[in-house]
Amino acid sequence: MIDLHLHTTASDGRRTPVELVTEAAAAGLAVMAVTDHDTMASTDDVRQLAAEHDIDAIAGIEITAVDEGRDVHVLGYFLDHSHGGLVEFLSAQRDVRVKRVRAIAARLADLNMLIDLRPALLEVSLLPGRSIGRPQVARAMVSAGHVSSTREAFDQWLGRDRPAFVPRTGSRPEEVIATIHRAGGLASLAHPGRTSMDARIPALRDAGLDAIEVYHSDHDGAMTARYHRMARALDLLMTGGSDYHGDPQHGVPLGAATLPDDAWQRLHAARHRHAAT
Ligand code: AMP
Ligand code: ZN
Ligand code: FE
Ligand code: FE
Repeated sequence: MIDLHLHTTASDGRRTPVELVTEAAAAGLAVMAVTDHDTMASTDDVRQLAAEHDIDAIAGIEITAVDEGRDVHVLGYFLDHSHGGLVEFLSAQRDVRVKRVRAIAARLADLNMLIDLRPALLEVSLLPGRSIGRPQVARAMVSAGHVSSTREAFDQWLGRDRPAFVPRTGSRPEEVIATIHRAGGLASLAHPGRTSMDARIPALRDAGLDAIEVYHSDHDGAMTARYHRMARALDLLMTGGSDYHGDPQHGVPLGAATLPDDAWQRLHAARHRHAAT
């Protein structure tokens, strides 16, 4: 089993690298990739732990780009997490995240919902590479008793067009793709069925997009078939994974969506396509 979309506590996942790799081994994964939001802080730990279980852990990331005011998640694989340009880019991404969650907290305060973000912000300042986002805000809202679940926090307050939504600033997907290439990686459009920007995919391919995430736990059979056809038609590689966050209130079990072996073979064969520069 191959699951190339997993999160850890370096971003908004609930599992530490040790916990995640232990679960991956129990689920029988042969290949795994942690794709935390705008950080690769778990990469070394995961690789070392996975090797002990004979799991092939490949380097991964999920970078948030912005396209006409909408979030676009771009996955990167086989990239060098010590690449100077990438390190700098991701650090700037995380700084923007801190500013954004502070702005969201201020908005919530205006709405008479005080939350305590200090523990989450303390982790960001103490732990190198820690990435914050709306899920941590949602958890603080649950802790303060303003909502009964993180899902309710998103549905009522934090989601797009909800009262505490703060628009994001960021790089365009084309720039993110180029950043991944410069770090020697392959770029894949995450969960296109959720992102709904199908009309932009040919242009992103022309900008160097290598793959699309055909297999994802949010994709039903019809969507998977649709993106499979699109990948074939546009000569794009395919990626896939569960997007497991270890969070009972949001999501799916590890391995809930997996990449078939033949698609993995093609992806793996292309891993040196972009030399780091
Ligand atoms: P952000 O990175 O701040 O834009 O937050 C987006 C992240 O929030 C996504 O990557 C998901 O992991 C998580 N998320 C999105 N929708 C929900 C939801 N309805 N409930 C809980 N978490 C969510
Ligand atoms: Zn997430
Ligand atoms: Fe995503
Ligand atoms: Fe994800």
